[in-house]
Amino acid sequence: MKPYAIALLPGDGVGPEVAAVARDVLVAVGERYSRSFTFTSELIGGVAIDATGESLPEATLAACRASDAIFLGAVGGPKWDGGSVRPEQGLLGLRKALELFANVRPTRVYSDLVDRSPLKREFVEDVDFVMFRELTGGSYFGERKRGPTFASDECLYTTGEVERIAHAAFAAARARRGKVTSVDKANVLETSRLWREVVTRVHASHYSDVQLEHALVDSLSMQLIRQPRAYDVILTENMFGDILSDEASVLGGSIGLSPSASLGAHGPALFEPVHGSAPDIAGRDLCNPIGAILSVGLLLRYGLRLQREAAGVEAAVEAAIAAGARTRDLGGDLGCRAMGEAVIDALHGVSAQTSHHVQMHWG
Ligand code: NAD
Repeated sequence: MKPYAIALLPGDGVGPEVAAVARDVLVAVGERYSRSFTFTSELIGGVAIDATGESLPEATLAACRASDAIFLGAVGGPKWDGGSVRPEQGLLGLRKALELFANVRPTRVYSDLVDRSPLKREFVEDVDFVMFRELTGGSYFGERKRGPTFASDECLYTTGEVERIAHAAFAAARARRGKVTSVDKANVLETSRLWREVVTRVHASHYSDVQLEHALVDSLSMQLIRQPRAYDVILTENMFGDILSDEASVLGGSIGLSPSASLGAHGPALFEPVHGSAPDIAGRDLCNPIGAILSVGLLLRYGLRLQREAAGVEAAVEAAIAAGARTRDLGGDLGCRAMGEAVIDALHGVSAQTSHHVQMHWG
């Protein structure tokens, strides 16, 4: 069987530390499930600026295009603040070049970590939802205008842009608990009225087996704290998703736990932990690699369509946490490498036919 080609972009700060663990986990998945992976490691962000003057060198983009999936650690750091080329431009450039239009962020509160959540146990126990945020349209990409006494940011969505993210969200819901909450501001914004119409149409024509509800963004931001268990798949536009996904990421108890995927229509997708380069703890083996490991889970599930292997990684994370493995941010004393090893040990113990229950969790 042809090996899967993985482009690794370790980047800056803690990026190389979590990328090394991600690679080890993929190698362990290969051993556990008889798959093979090849790896190329490329520059992005600050380290790329230092080496080439560019945050996304042509060689990096070419290696990404030639891969089956891309794993990124993190970019940025104080060293490059204020420079004319910024590390984050590399990441934005990659998303743009690969037309990654769907940002997927699962939020899960592990029963063994409930007490790390800032919310009370009765609100967050068993929380398990995934947010689908549109990534290439809306006010972040509209025309900007500035005059002496005014400024405006155009917010534009096309029917096609809403349709493709809606399809992705409904398909994910079908593999999970079968419910989509579409978030907009249709009582005020015209783009939101279009959003609601298109989502309703896509639902009626293709996914009537999935439950659809609409919510206004102000109300949803409140309900996400009051009753986060009520959600399965949350579907929303770019700016609302940017804000809501950060709100969601605190529920689990540490930013170090959250994974993400950025998916396109064709070609390789990008997988990365939600956290940044954490310069305050970089280079000291202190960071939590779970967000990176769960991003490997998403890479297997959405990038390579290896459902059993993805479920195995997710079950191994759950088992390692249940066995008491904790990094500092979770109140323990394991380093990044040791936490990675705990998950890999657990992976070798996970049944080859990991339960359907776990597969359902992460859709
Ligand atoms: P950050 O996520 O890097 O760090 C915020 C806090 O969380 C810090 O206290 C950090 O120590 C802690 N933290 C982050 N990841 C952790 C982990 N895996 N384990 C334990 N603790 C962890 O956010 P920031 O400090 O706002 O940004 C630092 C740099 O990262 C900036 O240059 C920013 O632009 C960049 N950044 C990059 C990305 C990305 O690459 N996708 C995302 C966000 C921020």
